Amino acid sequence: MKMLVLLGPPGSGKGTQAHLLQQQGWLRISTGDLLRDIVNKDNELSKKIKTILAAGKLVKDEIVFDLIKEEILNNKDKDIVLDGFPRNAAQAKMLIKFALNYDIIIILMKLTDAEIIKRNTARRICKNCQRIYNINLLPINQTNVCIECGSELYQRNDDKEEVIRERINVYNKEIDGILKIFKDKYKINEVDANRPPEEIYKEINDII
Ligand code: AMP
Repeated sequence: MKMLVLLGPPGSGKGTQAHLLQQQGWLRISTGDLLRDIVNKDNELSKKIKTILAAGKLVKDEIVFDLIKEEILNNKDKDIVLDGFPRNAAQAKMLIKFALNYDIIIILMKLTDAEIIKRNTARRICKNCQRIYNINLLPINQTNVCIECGSELYQRNDDKEEVIRERINVYNKEIDGILKIFKDKYKINEVDANRPPEEIYKEINDII
């Protein structure tokens, strides 16, 4: 089985590519989506996680790792695409140790800081199917509803400019450590993320 690890700054299109692969039968695991599901519940853990997400910081490694472990163990027969994990070197080590039975493929999506801000502030998500949109690319009278399922689109709490800046800081601080762990064992496939999703998807398919 394959395990595709999508690395890249917030807004580089990891989620979009993971959704496209999901349509081809891959199991999509988005730690951000799993955490937002928890935030929508009403308990002590959800309150704590909500505060961390709203500040653009990282949730504890053990909490996030338990979430993806459960998904992986429940889907042993599927190729997996990871969107949002690992986010630091410790998580990268946890993953390598745990995913011994998988062919791990690493993709690093590259995007400039200016483009990251632009994309994240324009990002909207379908409340129902989680499909991701850029409102600047939607027809002017269609910025509120999902083209796929007709549900309402929303803006993530952490897609506000000051939080995005913090998320970029966290990414820039952690990415070298992650790459250092991976590059001894795996090839790092760099992909230019400043292109239309279909083009990037084609390149990813060539890599995998
Ligand atoms: P994302 O949807 O991938 O942009 O993630 C949204 C937020 O969820 C991040 O800014 C973090 O606060 C949290 N998060 C997602 N993945 C992880 C992870 N692997 N480790 C820690 N926190 C995470």
